[in-house]
Amino acid sequence: MAEYPSEYQLDVALRDGSGARVRPITPEDGEHIRDFFERMGPESRYYRFFRVKDTLEPEEIEYFTHVDYDDRMALIALHGGKMIGVGRYDRDRAEPGVAEVAFAVSDAEQGKGLGTMLLELLTTYARTHGITQFRAFVLGENRQMMRVFRNSGYELTRTMDSGVFTVDFPVEETETAFAREAEREKRAVAASVLPLFFPKSIAVIGASNDPKSIGGRLFGNILSEGFVGPLYPVNPSSRVVRSVRAYPTVADIPDEVDLAFVVVPQRFVLDVVTQCAEAGVRGIVVISAGFAEVGGEGAEDEARLLEIVRDSGMRMVGPNCMGLLNTSSAVRLNGTFAPVYPPAGNVAMSSQSGALGIAILDYARRSNLGISQFVSVGNKADVSGNDLLMAWEDDPQTDVITLYLESFGNPAKFSRLARRIGVRKPIIAVKSGRSAAGSRAASSHTGALASSDEAVTALFRQAGVIRVDTIEELFDVSGLLANQPVPEGTRVGIVTNAGGPGILAADALESYGLTIPELSAELQQAISEGLAAEASTRNPIDLIASGGPAAFEQATTHLLNSLEVDSVMVIYVPTSPEGGSDVAAALRRCQDEYEGDTPLLSVFMQSESAAESLVGKNGKRSIPTYTFPEDAAHALSRATGYGEWRKRDPGTQAALPVDAVDRVRSVIDEALQRLGDEGGWLESEEMEACLQAIGLRTPVTREASSLTRAQETAAEIGGPVVLKVISDEALHKSDLGGVVLGVEGDEEVAAAFEKVTAAVTSHQGVLVQEYVPEGHEVLIGVAQDPNFGPLVLFGLGGIYVELLKDVSFRLHPLTDVDAAEMIRETRSHKLLEGYRNNPKGDVAALESSLLQISGFVSAVPELVEMDLNPVKVLTPGEGVCVVDARMRVAPVPPERLPAMRDLPGVTSNPRV
Ligand code: ADP
Ligand code: MG
Repeated sequence: MAEYPSEYQLDVALRDGSGARVRPITPEDGEHIRDFFERMGPESRYYRFFRVKDTLEPEEIEYFTHVDYDDRMALIALHGGKMIGVGRYDRDRAEPGVAEVAFAVSDAEQGKGLGTMLLELLTTYARTHGITQFRAFVLGENRQMMRVFRNSGYELTRTMDSGVFTVDFPVEETETAFAREAEREKRAVAASVLPLFFPKSIAVIGASNDPKSIGGRLFGNILSEGFVGPLYPVNPSSRVVRSVRAYPTVADIPDEVDLAFVVVPQRFVLDVVTQCAEAGVRGIVVISAGFAEVGGEGAEDEARLLEIVRDSGMRMVGPNCMGLLNTSSAVRLNGTFAPVYPPAGNVAMSSQSGALGIAILDYARRSNLGISQFVSVGNKADVSGNDLLMAWEDDPQTDVITLYLESFGNPAKFSRLARRIGVRKPIIAVKSGRSAAGSRAASSHTGALASSDEAVTALFRQAGVIRVDTIEELFDVSGLLANQPVPEGTRVGIVTNAGGPGILAADALESYGLTIPELSAELQQAISEGLAAEASTRNPIDLIASGGPAAFEQATTHLLNSLEVDSVMVIYVPTSPEGGSDVAAALRRCQDEYEGDTPLLSVFMQSESAAESLVGKNGKRSIPTYTFPEDAAHALSRATGYGEWRKRDPGTQAALPVDAVDRVRSVIDEALQRLGDEGGWLESEEMEACLQAIGLRTPVTREASSLTRAQETAAEIGGPVVLKVISDEALHKSDLGGVVLGVEGDEEVAAAFEKVTAAVTSHQGVLVQEYVPEGHEVLIGVAQDPNFGPLVLFGLGGIYVELLKDVSFRLHPLTDVDAAEMIRETRSHKLLEGYRNNPKGDVAALESSLLQISGFVSAVPELVEMDLNPVKVLTPGEGVCVVDARMRVAPVPPERLPAMRDLPGVTSNPRV
């Protein structure tokens, strides 16, 4: 087989739920092309070649199968070993920015969106190869092809000449094109995983009579839960499994099989799955382990397994997983080997760890959290977390999505999907590996501060994903969001029968930024009626120890119906003679009679489990309950934060003006020439040129190679200056004494020159720089995260920034809202607002600077790391000034180019 870069082999989802493999054409594809051509009807041939054509000449085949990955590129789509489509472009010799594009899709596969998909992939590829415009020649009567172009969402210009349309369109990324592709993708992926969650019939391959074996447990679970369709055990050595007639292989089952569970020893898996593919099975769940997780041959087997799955268009969960379940009464699929089946409900769950999955189901049962669907994704060879997000996005049973993640297959896609879905359904995630802050060898402050965990945090924050640390918190937060409305604001009303817990709750809530407002006199008056005289009607409302169910009911009802709080927390300590269950029953009445959208949650500080009446029946809301006020406060704060994210304006990104980009590009291109393949640090003038081009001020700075030159330069600049040694030894110059501030006149300059040059063993002269005495010192930095791309950092503290770590991160690109938030997120930002007679800083200019830097990052994908430290923030109206910069650039490795695999519709799931 001819080689092509592995990242160009992609799997795509088609409209009808089937799939195709797409890859570059190779010289070995002659047979494929010939066969494809034979299968083309006369009309399709005519459309493609503009004439009646019977055979392909060898030269034509030679021509079609040769590409150079730059001026000529062609992608072919395969399904079941047959070529089903091709898309190609050829760069125009006269106009190198323009390429002619052409498609053909086999007659049997038309109408599934393959042409559109191929177009989208080619556009993305062409874009990274300097092509700005596509041109296609389409016969007037070829409506199918015109539809592909129109559906793409690109802006077309069309001219007609002797029956042939010339269609021109820019290949730049457009929002409409992207949105349409995303919509198609969602439908295609959701359709493709349907046989997994809503199968009409099931086979369990490896079903066993041994109730202790995994195959026995799994089969027993599906059987005893009463799956609605037929269930077929497959077992070559047993005629019957649990009173059900068994078949030796899946091929022997006299019925169609939608979904097959594979629970056989590792060495049989590939054969069994091949048989499934041949029998027309549409989804498989491979429980068996011994694949990529063990490395070596296991990893190779997994690749082969995936090959079979993708070739046949099946979808697969696993391998190395504990199964999946769907509690919907239309399915009742208990397809795991776990001993517990959770209550039905509206929370979808995916777990990357099988063992934890069992614990999660058990916890769901105990805490009465209703599950819609649960998937143990195992090695995620095929079905990924991203696929599940798309499947759950429109699933009517699912209101809350929860994820237990160990790794991301494709973070760029995750971020795009999470942002979109999170607006409608909260996504709650436990991302493990938080403490293992991968400290990379870094030579900038930013690099040292930017662990990959910071990138995950930034990703979750920007995408609105609720990140929790533990499984317990996952349940705390999902229990609230699954049962109660999302809080509209931060005001919390507390009702309690004991002062202490009320204060604990209030403190915890306030530490999370929520508020406990004082209630109006009228509301307090209304609440006080019927309460003991000693009770307190301020917030927290303290019913005191004698406060029983009636007191709880009346205070809670008043709070819920007032417009003075956004959520209500009820805390019960077992002091009243009636006990917790009566209070719970009182809360049930409050909830059932209440028709508004203020969430209600409860804390029962007692050993016996929460009362039955807190569980909502017949469509009534359940009242989430916690054992400690702090846990309830934490859950409420996360739900409130989510509500704020959902309401917030995402802001707008700022693009650099075209001429700024041009100037930056010419500086960077020249520097890259100078630095070669390895890349390296930019020189001081190069950085200055870039910063000025994007609109950031820098002090007057000149290089001086000798003392005399330094003295002359200082005099030219005028006023006090700063001397900084230029030397490769000094990462942070001032650490060594390589910086002297505020010198004026020949004598002082001479002393400073002596001092800074003596700090290092060898130097290339000094920088003489205008002195900027005023201003707050902040750091703006950029680091490349290997998985998530550029990460922008902001922090105060000048040279102490690494010590104080008072910094905030966002993934590039930033919006104006991100910029504003990331400044305010640091504790010390108050300094910029004039804390304790400090001079105020020009925060508006600082926000713009962050956006300008983000624009710079867009223009310079070669930027590896950058420290602007310090940026001096002057008084309002005076702007900011960058007094020290470090930037390293290197040619962009191919894996960082905007990739075809990030496109909507591409389901390839290369494991990391
Ligand atoms: P390095 O980071 O390599 O130690 P800098 O150029 O950042 O060197 O200088 C160290 C410190 O000196 C800065 O953090 C800042 O406080 C101060 N400084 C540097 N240049 C100037 C300047 N032009 N005007 C005022 N202060 C400066
Ligand atoms: Mg510095």
